[in-house]
Amino acid sequence: MSGEGHVFHPSVLREYDIRGIVGKTLGPLDAHAIGRAYGTLVQRKGGNVIALGYDGRLSSPELTEAVTEGLVSTGAHVKRVGLGPTPMLYYAIKHLGADAGIMVTGSHNPSDHNGFKMALSGGPVYGDAILAIGEIAGGGHYAAGPGKIEDFDIQDAYVERLLKDYLGPRPLKIVWDSGNGASGEILRRLTAKLPGEHILLFDEIDGRFPNHHPDPTVPENLVDLQKAVAESGADIGIGFDGDGDRIGAIDGTGRIIWGDQLLAIYAREVLATHPGETIIADVKASQILYDEIARLGGKPLMWKTGHSLIKAKMAETGSPLAGEMSGHIFFADKWYGFDDALYCGVRLASLVSLASKSLASIADELPKVFNTPETRFEVEAARKFEVIREVKARLAAVEGITVNDIDGVRVNTPDGWWLARASNTQEVLVARAESATLDGLERLKALLKEQLSLSGISPPAGF
Ligand SMILES: [Zn+2]
Repeated sequence: MSGEGHVFHPSVLREYDIRGIVGKTLGPLDAHAIGRAYGTLVQRKGGNVIALGYDGRLSSPELTEAVTEGLVSTGAHVKRVGLGPTPMLYYAIKHLGADAGIMVTGSHNPSDHNGFKMALSGGPVYGDAILAIGEIAGGGHYAAGPGKIEDFDIQDAYVERLLKDYLGPRPLKIVWDSGNGASGEILRRLTAKLPGEHILLFDEIDGRFPNHHPDPTVPENLVDLQKAVAESGADIGIGFDGDGDRIGAIDGTGRIIWGDQLLAIYAREVLATHPGETIIADVKASQILYDEIARLGGKPLMWKTGHSLIKAKMAETGSPLAGEMSGHIFFADKWYGFDDALYCGVRLASLVSLASKSLASIADELPKVFNTPETRFEVEAARKFEVIREVKARLAAVEGITVNDIDGVRVNTPDGWWLARASNTQEVLVARAESATLDGLERLKALLKEQLSLSGISPPAGF
């Protein structure tokens, strides 16, 4: 059926999700069109049952209502699970036997942003599928029919499933920080049943994020967690992003255990029961991780950054574990292959308890390297992919240097490696460098800065 088309703000339909600034680039009319277009897309793929959830942002209820109306108008059977983290919605797709799901969430973005993450029962919705949503809406080619709405409370079922994979014999003291994000209520129910002692920070769901921003990959957002771990003498600190699909962790000494280190730690446990299998990480991850996977007898696979891309690669290779530097970690070992930071928290607590040693000692067993955090270099939108092509062309024939161009350029020299890649979500180049020695790291940073400055890009202060 055809009708009047809907045109989205050009910035809203993105590579991995739909996202905008509420009242400026995204509003209820857009949400309604997304519901109609997504309901149509799901029907074209042979499905009709769509699970729907929303995060704790102030704009989420209104957008959820509009997307619900849109979905129902296409004839979809909408199974609403209410307020919760994004992984609870992914779980709902499995638990409620839905064909697809849609989550109203702004993830870790500022409080006036919001958006939609979508999944089909077989995998993520991204790239071409998001473009298809734009096309269906643009042409007004929506399906129509009598739909229906049903409400479900799956919180206890989800918590029970999370708890099932906690095998720890030794009680731990753990501080959890959900940053006033959407995982707060689930976290309360989970920690009430999880063995050990649990201290909860900022578990009130509050879309204004009054304490700190809910993004655990930024060190300043982990300061409260570090303080609480130190004051309470806790074994571990675990933080979540705004919608609970990314994890941040600190050990009992207050050190940040980054996403790639966590993955190396999880890989031991997973490869013990999945010998020789493929473990995937993104191009930002440390060489330590790839070496550790190989040392453990697994097959390391470096892949493009982006949670949807990693999830798709995981399904393709049958990998039991994958992850990103950003803290999106995907277990298909005992779990469903989606990124669930609450589940990652349970698995971390379980393995530390089973190990009868501290997370700090486990992390210390990994080789020492010197590396930079992810660093952002500002770039004009029109130039960001071009700059990467220029760097690649300049380095192609340089002796002693190899360039991996799977996503941006990951440049290997005798000193180690550095990465520069164009972000799909921001007007920046993301860079990182890593070496076994401090001198080596300085040489890598100098080469990286030289290459970017040849393309007119200056480094941020202090890099
Ligand atoms: Zn998130």
